[in-house]
Amino acid sequence: MTSTTYQRIVLAARPKGKVEPANFRLETLAQPTLASLKNDEVLVQNQYLSLDPYMRGRMSTAKSYADPQALDKTMIGATAGTVLASKHAEFKVGDDVVGMLGWAEMGVVHGRELRRVDAKIPLSAYLGVVGMPGVTAWYGVNKILQAKAGQTLVVSAASGAVGSVVGQLAKLKGCHVVGIAGGEKKCRYVTEQLGFDACVDYQQAQAKKELLINLQASLQAATPDGIDLLFENVGSTILDASLACLNPHAKIALCGMIAGYNSVATPLQNSSKLLTMRASLQGFIVTEHMEIWPLALQELAGLVASGKLNYHETIAQGLAAAPEAFIGLLGGQNLGKQLVKLC
Ligand code: NDP
Repeated sequence: MTSTTYQRIVLAARPKGKVEPANFRLETLAQPTLASLKNDEVLVQNQYLSLDPYMRGRMSTAKSYADPQALDKTMIGATAGTVLASKHAEFKVGDDVVGMLGWAEMGVVHGRELRRVDAKIPLSAYLGVVGMPGVTAWYGVNKILQAKAGQTLVVSAASGAVGSVVGQLAKLKGCHVVGIAGGEKKCRYVTEQLGFDACVDYQQAQAKKELLINLQASLQAATPDGIDLLFENVGSTILDASLACLNPHAKIALCGMIAGYNSVATPLQNSSKLLTMRASLQGFIVTEHMEIWPLALQELAGLVASGKLNYHETIAQGLAAAPEAFIGLLGGQNLGKQLVKLC
């Protein structure tokens, strides 16, 4: 690539089952210039691309809360970068901004689609702990679960971008917090670095063959007083085992069902617990609650700046590495927030 061109990745074909590298195509385009910008447009050099599970849903044409990603167009994605040229009064060259410029090294957008960020926090954090995943955690913990001191909260995909923030916010509120994660390394991170009270390794339970029975037993041991609050990121057998441990009037924030994104999810054996425990379950999409974003982002930024909220990033190098990194995210290869460093 020369300095007068840039690269992007488009959706080349919709996946059938698991996502494959062949679902994507890397393309080279001519670099936009100041002269090519229309009034109010901004040219941004993207430094980081965020990879998120929702992208798997957009690759499909199944009915959902958002339209599918179009074929042969730049893959959707949040980005953090620096203004290279601007015809918008509120942005100048060198400003750090976040936006939705997609899987691309640079892009042109109307200024209203960008948010300027300050340098008190590393730029990459605005895509994770102080970005959409952090706000997702904040919304579920504060608005749906309304977590209170003394309650037991369980969160699945506990070491990930959302789960890691969920558990830490709940700990700050005085909850007993138990995570569920895949593998010893992730569980150690969750308890030792994030301060959760316990973490159940579902892969260890899986190794014992009868996943549901073993996971249920491990969860029961980790939550001797039962589960009051469940922040569900995974679905399938992980959700099933948690349902078996619910307390009366338990609350469930249904955030994600990643176990089923690549395939058909496993039916639930313990769904009757929703009735017998008189549980309330609320699914939510964080982008439908834009009114809470300013407050949530302000609180999250404050907690990061004061060292009360820890985070970890897994960073793939270069745009061409994005497809493999995304496939890895869907297979649990990431620890914390999965990003791609673009320059
Ligand atoms: P993560 O950083 O947590 O990465 C995904 C993790 O999911 C993997 O690391 C893996 O962790 C786990 N996972 C993947 N496949 C499976 C499987 N088959 N069984 C069990 N665990 C699996 O991603 P995010 O924190 O960004 O997202 C977490 C969830 O939140 C997702 O379901 C996502 O769709 C949802 N979400 C929902 C939003 C909303 O508005 N409702 C907004 C943002 C995210 P492990 O190795 O521990 O299994």
